Amino acid sequence: MLFGSNRTYIYLDNAATTPLCDAAAEAMAPYMKAAPDGTFGNANSLHSIGREAFSELEDARARVARALGAQRPDEIVFTSGATEADNAAIVGMALAERDRGRLRGNAASGRVVMSRIEHHAVLHSAAMLKRLGFEVDFVDNDASGHIGVEALERVMREDTVLVSIMAVNNEVGTVLDTAALAEAAHRHGALFHADAVQALGKIPFNVGALGVDAASFSSHKVGGPQGVGVMYLKTRTPFVAYMAGGGQERGMRSGTQNIAGILGCAAAVEHAVAFQPAFAERAAKLRDSLYQELCSLPKVSATVRLESGEFAPHIVNVCVSGMESQTMILQLDLRGFCVSGGSACSSNSLDPSHVLSALGVKRNLAQGSLRISFGEITDEADVASFVEAFKEVVS
Ligand code: PLP
Repeated sequence: MLFGSNRTYIYLDNAATTPLCDAAAEAMAPYMKAAPDGTFGNANSLHSIGREAFSELEDARARVARALGAQRPDEIVFTSGATEADNAAIVGMALAERDRGRLRGNAASGRVVMSRIEHHAVLHSAAMLKRLGFEVDFVDNDASGHIGVEALERVMREDTVLVSIMAVNNEVGTVLDTAALAEAAHRHGALFHADAVQALGKIPFNVGALGVDAASFSSHKVGGPQGVGVMYLKTRTPFVAYMAGGGQERGMRSGTQNIAGILGCAAAVEHAVAFQPAFAERAAKLRDSLYQELCSLPKVSATVRLESGEFAPHIVNVCVSGMESQTMILQLDLRGFCVSGGSACSSNSLDPSHVLSALGVKRNLAQGSLRISFGEITDEADVASFVEAFKEVVS
């Protein structure tokens, strides 16, 4: 895949962000033009321009609900991204559950359980809950990031109000068993939230079928614009909104809606879900052949044990002993390849990522980790030329 106005790149960092897809760009176009050709409107205004924006907003909500498997459009709340969706869902559900407990005369402050391999948006939401008096505990994962129901059962307690476990890990691609984990949480009386950012469009993910109470999604990971996200919140799930203001999104997320972004997000989500099976089949072949090529080289090993369970089709993560991620990323960039080490959000740090630490990867090995992630237009030729550049860099 070639990109750039004055340079060509092969972009293999699709877990960090993806290029805008045609469907999203087309959906956004009318709202991105200046007057008098462009359209605009506050979806909360009563006049016809406002009502037109409102009708587009509600149509987008209904389409996203259908694509994600929600029962009703009003289970979809548009946010500024998955970071906000994670924060809102985790803090909002935990606070609401604590309020409910107190009404019933329960003095306990409440407890939240999550995995150690969550994105910082989830881990730092938990840190916020801790400051608000909640207890936060972690469920054990195996060396590839998988979490068994028994491991979750072991940490559940009567005062656990919420469990948050991601559907697909963003650094190494581990697929978690959302349906089984959600059911276990429910058996113990807790709500269940899944950060499904890296699952959408990559594995089947239907909120209704999986039985989650809440889930977070990000538009820019599936060909939509940056700065837009979706919080799925099942009807009647206890929730306290922390974004106070004009009461938009039925009071669950105040703030004038980003109509252009939401229309782009809806088009991208529909596209990603419709093409998920085809994408997964193609990407899994690229993943398997890339792992095979890279791991046949001296000093290179897969970060996770691929036979240990299910992994997402779009993520490859290897460790190169004796090398540093940053050096490899910059050397590959000079050769026209975009990849990352760990997650993009924490790539400025030289510390090994918290995910690799939680998998038990030794510090010196984790410092040489590289994540290669595929998108819709990644093809075999891209992967083959990456392998050649990688060989040059590590030799
Ligand atoms: N959760 C996961 C698993 C992610 O991979 C990301 C992005 O890297 C996020 C949350 C945050 O998403 P956003 O960039 O939309 O805030």
